[in-house]
Amino acid sequence: MTDALTLAKAQEALQELGLNRCVDLLAPSAEWASENDATYIGFLVRLLESEIDERRTRRLQAKLRAAHFPYHKTLADFDFSFQPSIDERQIRELAHLSFVADGHNVVMLGPPGVGKTHLSVALGLEAIAQGLSVSFVTMQGLVSDLRRAHAENRLESRIKMYVKPKLLICDEVGYLPLDALDAANFFRLVSERYERGAMIITSNTGFANWGSVFGDPVLASALLDRILHHATTINIRGNSFRMKDKLRSGLAQSHVGVVAEQATE
Ligand code: ADP
Ligand code: MG
Repeated sequence: MTDALTLAKAQEALQELGLNRCVDLLAPSAEWASENDATYIGFLVRLLESEIDERRTRRLQAKLRAAHFPYHKTLADFDFSFQPSIDERQIRELAHLSFVADGHNVVMLGPPGVGKTHLSVALGLEAIAQGLSVSFVTMQGLVSDLRRAHAENRLESRIKMYVKPKLLICDEVGYLPLDALDAANFFRLVSERYERGAMIITSNTGFANWGSVFGDPVLASALLDRILHHATTINIRGNSFRMKDKLRSGLAQSHVGVVAEQATE
Protein backbone atom coordinates (compact mmCIF):
# COMPACT_ATOMS: atom_id res chain seq x y z
CA MET A 1 0.00 0.00 0.00
CA THR A 2 1.34 3.44 -0.91
CA ASP A 3 1.76 5.71 2.10
CA ALA A 4 0.01 9.05 2.14
CA LEU A 5 3.22 11.07 1.87
CA THR A 6 4.44 9.23 -1.25
CA LEU A 7 1.00 9.55 -2.82
CA ALA A 8 0.93 13.29 -2.13
CA LYS A 9 4.43 13.67 -3.64
CA ALA A 10 3.45 11.83 -6.78
CA GLN A 11 0.26 13.89 -7.09
CA GLU A 12 2.24 17.09 -6.70
CA ALA A 13 4.65 16.01 -9.46
CA LEU A 14 1.76 15.11 -11.77
CA GLN A 15 0.13 18.45 -11.00
CA GLU A 16 3.33 20.29 -11.87
CA LEU A 17 3.43 18.44 -15.20
CA GLY A 18 -0.16 19.51 -15.87
CA LEU A 19 -1.46 15.92 -15.83
CA ASN A 20 -4.61 16.76 -13.91
CA ARG A 21 -6.58 13.65 -14.79
CA CYS A 22 -3.65 11.51 -13.57
CA VAL A 23 -3.74 13.38 -10.25
CA ASP A 24 -7.38 12.38 -9.77
CA LEU A 25 -6.89 8.80 -10.91
CA LEU A 26 -3.53 8.03 -9.29
CA ALA A 27 -4.89 6.51 -6.07
CA PRO A 28 -7.71 4.48 -7.69
CA SER A 29 -5.33 3.27 -10.43
CA ALA A 30 -2.78 2.17 -7.83
CA GLU A 31 -5.53 0.30 -6.04
CA TRP A 32 -6.67 -1.29 -9.31
CA ALA A 33 -3.05 -2.31 -10.05
CA SER A 34 -2.56 -4.04 -6.70
CA GLU A 35 -5.95 -5.76 -6.87
CA ASN A 36 -5.26 -7.02 -10.39
CA ASP A 37 -1.57 -7.81 -10.06
CA ALA A 38 -0.85 -5.35 -12.86
CA THR A 39 2.75 -4.68 -13.91
CA TYR A 40 4.31 -1.26 -13.33
CA ILE A 41 4.03 -0.59 -17.05
CA GLY A 42 0.41 -1.79 -17.08
CA PHE A 43 -0.38 0.66 -14.28
CA LEU A 44 1.38 3.49 -16.10
CA VAL A 45 -0.45 2.79 -19.36
CA ARG A 46 -3.83 2.82 -17.61
CA LEU A 47 -3.05 6.13 -15.93
CA LEU A 48 -1.68 7.85 -19.03
CA GLU A 49 -4.49 6.59 -21.26
CA SER A 50 -7.05 8.19 -18.95
CA GLU A 51 -5.22 11.52 -19.34
CA ILE A 52 -5.11 11.14 -23.13
CA ASP A 53 -8.84 10.22 -23.27
CA GLU A 54 -9.77 13.22 -21.18
CA ARG A 55 -7.72 15.58 -23.36
CA ARG A 56 -9.21 14.13 -26.54
CA THR A 57 -12.73 14.63 -25.17
CA ARG A 58 -11.92 18.18 -24.13
CA ARG A 59 -10.46 18.99 -27.56
CA LEU A 60 -13.56 17.59 -29.27
CA GLN A 61 -15.84 19.59 -26.99
CA ALA A 62 -13.88 22.77 -27.72
CA LYS A 63 -14.13 22.06 -31.46
CA LEU A 64 -17.88 21.45 -31.09
CA ARG A 65 -18.38 24.76 -29.29
CA ALA A 66 -16.25 26.61 -31.86
CA ALA A 67 -18.29 25.15 -34.73
CA HIS A 68 -21.50 26.95 -33.64
CA PHE A 69 -23.88 24.36 -35.05
CA PRO A 70 -27.56 25.39 -34.81
CA TYR A 71 -28.29 21.89 -33.47
CA HIS A 72 -26.52 18.57 -33.13
CA LYS A 73 -28.07 15.95 -35.41
CA THR A 74 -26.25 13.03 -36.93
CA LEU A 75 -26.60 10.83 -39.99
CA ALA A 76 -28.12 8.20 -37.69
CA ASP A 77 -30.92 10.70 -36.94
CA PHE A 78 -31.66 11.15 -40.64
CA ASP A 79 -34.54 9.17 -42.13
CA PHE A 80 -33.39 8.49 -45.68
CA SER A 81 -36.64 6.69 -46.51
CA PHE A 82 -38.52 9.99 -46.09
CA GLN A 83 -36.36 11.68 -48.75
CA PRO A 84 -35.89 9.22 -51.64
CA SER A 85 -34.30 11.83 -53.93
CA ILE A 86 -31.23 11.65 -51.68
CA ASP A 87 -28.74 8.94 -52.61
CA GLU A 88 -27.91 7.50 -49.18
CA ARG A 89 -24.74 5.87 -50.51
CA GLN A 90 -23.48 9.21 -51.78
CA ILE A 91 -24.04 10.84 -48.37
CA ARG A 92 -22.31 7.93 -46.58
CA GLU A 93 -19.41 8.29 -49.02
CA LEU A 94 -19.21 12.02 -48.23
CA ALA A 95 -19.13 11.10 -44.53
CA HIS A 96 -15.72 9.51 -45.15
CA LEU A 97 -14.68 13.14 -45.60
CA SER A 98 -12.17 12.77 -48.40
CA PHE A 99 -13.75 15.95 -49.83
CA VAL A 100 -12.52 17.79 -46.73
CA ALA A 101 -9.00 16.41 -47.08
CA ASP A 102 -9.01 17.43 -50.76
CA GLY A 103 -10.42 20.92 -50.14
CA HIS A 104 -13.46 20.17 -52.31
CA ASN A 105 -17.02 21.42 -51.85
CA VAL A 106 -20.51 20.05 -51.35
CA VAL A 107 -23.53 22.04 -52.47
CA MET A 108 -26.96 21.03 -51.21
CA LEU A 109 -29.90 22.43 -53.10
CA GLY A 110 -33.55 22.05 -52.25
CA PRO A 111 -36.69 23.66 -50.83
CA PRO A 112 -37.07 24.39 -47.08
CA GLY A 113 -37.29 21.50 -44.65
CA VAL A 114 -35.82 18.75 -46.82
CA GLY A 115 -32.76 18.22 -44.60
CA LYS A 116 -30.04 20.47 -46.05
CA THR A 117 -29.00 21.90 -42.68
CA HIS A 118 -29.40 18.54 -40.94
CA LEU A 119 -27.11 16.75 -43.41
CA SER A 120 -24.56 19.60 -43.31
CA VAL A 121 -24.47 19.46 -39.51
CA ALA A 122 -24.20 15.65 -39.63
CA LEU A 123 -21.19 15.84 -41.97
CA GLY A 124 -19.71 18.58 -39.78
CA LEU A 125 -20.10 16.37 -36.70
CA GLU A 126 -18.31 13.53 -38.53
CA ALA A 127 -15.48 15.93 -39.36
CA ILE A 128 -15.19 16.99 -35.71
CA ALA A 129 -15.17 13.34 -34.60
CA GLN A 130 -12.17 12.92 -36.91
CA GLY A 131 -10.44 15.83 -35.16
CA LEU A 132 -10.98 18.36 -37.96
CA SER A 133 -11.92 21.98 -37.34
CA VAL A 134 -15.36 23.04 -38.54
CA SER A 135 -17.22 26.32 -38.58
CA PHE A 136 -20.94 26.71 -39.27
CA VAL A 137 -22.37 30.05 -40.39
CA THR A 138 -25.54 31.20 -42.05
CA MET A 139 -25.05 33.37 -45.10
CA GLN A 140 -26.82 36.25 -43.33
CA GLY A 141 -24.60 35.91 -40.26
CA LEU A 142 -21.50 35.67 -42.41
CA VAL A 143 -22.13 38.70 -44.60
CA SER A 144 -23.22 40.90 -41.70
CA ASP A 145 -20.08 39.89 -39.79
CA LEU A 146 -17.86 40.65 -42.81
CA ARG A 147 -19.68 43.95 -43.36
CA ARG A 148 -18.95 44.98 -39.76
CA ALA A 149 -15.31 43.92 -40.15
CA HIS A 150 -15.09 45.94 -43.38
CA ALA A 151 -16.46 49.05 -41.65
CA GLU A 152 -13.94 48.59 -38.84
CA ASN A 153 -11.04 48.11 -41.24
CA ARG A 154 -10.37 44.51 -40.22
CA LEU A 155 -11.86 42.62 -43.13
CA GLU A 156 -8.54 40.97 -43.96
CA SER A 157 -8.13 39.33 -40.56
CA ARG A 158 -11.80 38.38 -40.37
CA ILE A 159 -11.61 36.62 -43.73
CA LYS A 160 -8.49 34.80 -42.52
CA MET A 161 -10.51 33.53 -39.58
CA TYR A 162 -13.11 32.05 -41.95
CA VAL A 163 -10.37 30.51 -44.09
CA LYS A 164 -8.84 28.65 -41.14
CA PRO A 165 -11.31 25.81 -40.43
CA LYS A 166 -10.81 22.69 -42.54
CA LEU A 167 -14.55 22.75 -43.25
CA LEU A 168 -16.70 25.85 -43.49
CA ILE A 169 -20.45 25.27 -43.68
CA CYS A 170 -22.31 28.21 -45.16
CA ASP A 171 -26.04 27.66 -44.73
CA GLU A 172 -28.94 29.36 -46.51
CA VAL A 173 -27.34 31.00 -49.52
CA GLY A 174 -30.07 32.70 -51.52
CA TYR A 175 -32.70 33.18 -48.83
CA LEU A 176 -32.06 36.91 -49.06
CA PRO A 177 -30.56 38.85 -51.95
CA LEU A 178 -27.20 40.49 -51.21
CA ASP A 179 -26.05 44.02 -51.93
CA ALA A 180 -22.80 44.70 -53.81
CA LEU A 181 -20.55 44.90 -50.72
CA ASP A 182 -21.89 41.67 -49.18
CA ALA A 183 -21.60 39.87 -52.51
CA ALA A 184 -18.01 41.11 -52.97
CA ASN A 185 -17.03 40.07 -49.43
CA PHE A 186 -18.49 36.58 -49.92
CA PHE A 187 -16.69 36.30 -53.25
CA ARG A 188 -13.41 37.18 -51.53
CA LEU A 189 -13.93 34.51 -48.91
CA VAL A 190 -14.76 31.83 -51.50
CA SER A 191 -11.71 32.84 -53.55
CA GLU A 192 -9.47 32.61 -50.49
CA ARG A 193 -10.77 29.13 -49.63
CA TYR A 194 -10.68 27.92 -53.23
CA GLU A 195 -8.63 24.70 -53.43
CA ARG A 196 -7.46 25.34 -49.84
CA GLY A 197 -10.41 24.48 -47.65
CA ALA A 198 -13.64 22.59 -48.13
CA MET A 199 -17.06 24.21 -47.94
CA ILE A 200 -20.57 22.89 -47.64
CA ILE A 201 -23.03 25.37 -49.08
CA THR A 202 -26.78 24.99 -48.83
CA SER A 203 -29.28 26.89 -50.91
CA ASN A 204 -32.97 26.90 -51.67
CA THR A 205 -32.21 28.57 -54.99
CA GLY A 206 -30.94 26.89 -58.16
CA PHE A 207 -27.68 28.12 -59.69
CA ALA A 208 -29.59 29.85 -62.49
CA ASN A 209 -30.92 32.34 -59.91
CA TRP A 210 -27.60 33.11 -58.26
CA GLY A 211 -27.14 36.09 -60.60
CA SER A 212 -30.07 37.82 -58.94
CA VAL A 213 -29.14 36.61 -55.43
CA PHE A 214 -25.71 38.22 -55.82
CA GLY A 215 -27.08 41.18 -57.78
CA ASP A 216 -24.46 40.64 -60.49
CA PRO A 217 -24.44 37.79 -63.02
CA VAL A 218 -20.71 38.19 -63.76
CA LEU A 219 -19.76 37.90 -60.10
CA ALA A 220 -22.19 35.00 -59.60
CA SER A 221 -20.68 33.13 -62.52
CA ALA A 222 -17.11 33.68 -61.25
CA LEU A 223 -18.27 32.53 -57.83
CA LEU A 224 -19.95 29.40 -59.16
CA ASP A 225 -16.88 28.68 -61.28
CA ARG A 226 -14.78 28.45 -58.11
CA ILE A 227 -17.36 26.70 -55.95
CA LEU A 228 -18.27 24.08 -58.56
CA HIS A 229 -14.77 23.37 -59.93
CA HIS A 230 -14.36 20.57 -57.37
CA ALA A 231 -17.82 19.96 -55.97
CA THR A 232 -20.51 17.42 -55.35
CA THR A 233 -23.98 18.84 -55.87
CA ILE A 234 -26.86 17.21 -54.08
CA ASN A 235 -30.27 18.10 -55.41
CA ILE A 236 -32.98 17.32 -52.92
CA ARG A 237 -36.47 17.22 -54.33
CA GLY A 238 -39.18 16.35 -51.88
CA ASN A 239 -41.41 17.34 -49.03
CA SER A 240 -40.50 19.28 -45.94
CA PHE A 241 -39.83 17.00 -42.99
CA ARG A 242 -41.41 19.71 -40.85
CA MET A 243 -44.71 18.95 -42.60
CA LYS A 244 -44.34 15.19 -42.17
CA ASP A 245 -46.97 14.72 -39.52
CA LYS A 246 -49.39 17.14 -41.19
CA LEU A 247 -48.90 15.39 -44.51
CA ARG A 248 -49.65 12.09 -42.86
CA SER A 249 -52.90 13.38 -41.38
CA GLY A 250 -53.86 14.98 -44.70
CA LEU A 251 -53.78 18.54 -43.28
CA ALA A 252 -51.29 19.84 -45.82
CA GLN A 253 -50.57 19.18 -49.44
CA SER A 254 -47.13 18.07 -50.43
CA HIS A 255 -44.82 20.43 -52.35
CA VAL A 256 -45.11 18.02 -55.22
CA GLY A 257 -48.88 18.23 -55.09
CA VAL A 258 -48.89 22.02 -54.83
CA VAL A 259 -46.52 22.43 -57.77
CA ALA A 260 -48.52 19.99 -59.86
CA GLU A 261 -51.74 21.84 -59.05
CA GLN A 262 -50.26 25.24 -59.92
CA ALA A 263 -49.01 23.86 -63.21
CA THR A 264 -52.53 22.80 -64.23
CA GLU A 265 -54.23 26.07 -63.20
P1 ADP B 1 -33.55 22.62 -44.48
O1 ADP B 1 -33.48 21.82 -45.74
O2 ADP B 1 -34.54 23.74 -44.57
O3 ADP B 1 -32.21 23.07 -44.01
P2 ADP B 1 -33.48 21.05 -42.04
O4 ADP B 1 -32.29 20.24 -42.36
O5 ADP B 1 -33.27 22.13 -41.02
O6 ADP B 1 -34.13 21.65 -43.37
O7 ADP B 1 -34.65 20.11 -41.57
C1 ADP B 1 -35.78 20.63 -40.86
C2 ADP B 1 -36.04 19.76 -39.64
O8 ADP B 1 -36.45 18.47 -40.05
C3 ADP B 1 -34.79 19.53 -38.80
O9 ADP B 1 -35.20 19.42 -37.46
C4 ADP B 1 -34.25 18.21 -39.31
O10 ADP B 1 -33.54 17.53 -38.32
C5 ADP B 1 -35.51 17.47 -39.68
N1 ADP B 1 -35.35 16.60 -40.84
C6 ADP B 1 -35.36 16.97 -42.14
N2 ADP B 1 -35.27 15.90 -42.96
C7 ADP B 1 -35.19 14.82 -42.15
C8 ADP B 1 -35.07 13.41 -42.38
N3 ADP B 1 -35.09 12.91 -43.63
N4 ADP B 1 -34.99 12.60 -41.30
C9 ADP B 1 -35.03 13.11 -40.06
N5 ADP B 1 -35.14 14.42 -39.76
C10 ADP B 1 -35.23 15.27 -40.79
MG1 MG C 1 -31.78 24.94 -43.30
